[in-house]
Amino acid sequence: MNNLIKNVLAVLTGGTVKKTNIMVTNDKISAIGDIPETFKADNIIDGEDKLAIPGFINAHTHVSMTLLRSYADDMKLMDWLENKIWPIEAKMNKDDIYWGAMLGIAEMIKTGTTTFVDMYGDMEKVAQAVEETGIRAVLSRGMIGVAPNGQQALEENCSLFEDYNGAADGRITVMFGPHAPYTCPPEFLQKVIAKAQKYNAEIHIHLAETENEVQDCKKQYGKTPIALMESIGLFDQGVLAAHCVHLTTEDIDIIAKHNVRVAHNPGSNLKLASGIAPIGKLLEKGICVGLGTDGTSSNNNLDMLEEINLAALIHKANTLDPLLIPAAQALNMGTAAGAKAAGLNNTGELKPGMKADITLFSMQGTQWTPCYDPISLLVYSANAGMVDTVLADGKILLQKGKLTTIDEEKVIYTVNKSAQRLTGKSLLN
Ligand SMILES: [Zn+2]
Repeated sequence: MNNLIKNVLAVLTGGTVKKTNIMVTNDKISAIGDIPETFKADNIIDGEDKLAIPGFINAHTHVSMTLLRSYADDMKLMDWLENKIWPIEAKMNKDDIYWGAMLGIAEMIKTGTTTFVDMYGDMEKVAQAVEETGIRAVLSRGMIGVAPNGQQALEENCSLFEDYNGAADGRITVMFGPHAPYTCPPEFLQKVIAKAQKYNAEIHIHLAETENEVQDCKKQYGKTPIALMESIGLFDQGVLAAHCVHLTTEDIDIIAKHNVRVAHNPGSNLKLASGIAPIGKLLEKGICVGLGTDGTSSNNNLDMLEEINLAALIHKANTLDPLLIPAAQALNMGTAAGAKAAGLNNTGELKPGMKADITLFSMQGTQWTPCYDPISLLVYSANAGMVDTVLADGKILLQKGKLTTIDEEKVIYTVNKSAQRLTGKSLLN
């Protein structure tokens, strides 16, 4: 199946914007520019008044937590987890996880995301949702080492890798997902590292999210979370570290030295009052920084354009950080750098040879007028409701704002039923 996106304003590799044509052959971008005579399109997408960008990469999510969205808000991380979230999660079954994932995926596609990097439980149900919906994902079994099921969770992560790494036509990659140093002691993490090495898999973990986490870690182990992870060999594997808000200069050097990639979650960090990550300092050291919504954990949303907007805004307010983040760089963090953070080298850019993961924004309306700089308008003026068309792996998942692979009404109905059962709360409808 060949798709042709005709006469579209496209954000190309390196941030150049130009009016062009994008040829999609099966799952890949085969050419950008003049339409070759040999190219036969099965389907033509009119790109007039549209902006084509690489599909967003949401580099840190807990997507099935859509089920708990708005159940408890405006709390500090540990109070929220221990008193609200963990008790309800204990009641979730596999169907809940599946429908929560479907809701989140529907929302991500509608807001222009084509890849998400997820950590949670019952991940085979998330993998099933990924297979059915056509989105791309990097999945890990979230593991709490101190929980009674810690060892079982590790075995489940191994099964997830065996069953799903490379599945769904290569759209699924599997990582190992130890939750964080404060829930996974070094002895447990060492078991995780051994398994990750056995499978040659990467690791996705929360690190240095709050000031308390860092203080407690120093008290218990005499080291910051980053130094502790280095000392036990966690960084000898490829690692995607979510948050990294509270870092010393030495921590930043360790992150750079081991090529640890960072998933920056400004919305979540603001909402939980965790702080503002020193992203300018990380970027100055050449560290790869992607963006995540942490959705829908505390942050409640999966909207990557909003996250990109936040990333561009809050670093201008952070006077302790030396680097302003311009709109194009924030967009890059949500696309090309996000793909690298996720460990993927075949998505995140519009160029020949890449997977055809493409988002088209409608540029009609007041927010796009006047148009001196489309990237500036995208980051500072547009909203995700303007996403018109989404392709992932060369397939159209959203057409004129309508989902093609998901029955949205059924998903909303079923999630409401699940949420009611889990919380005992009657829902407004
Ligand atoms: Zn998280």
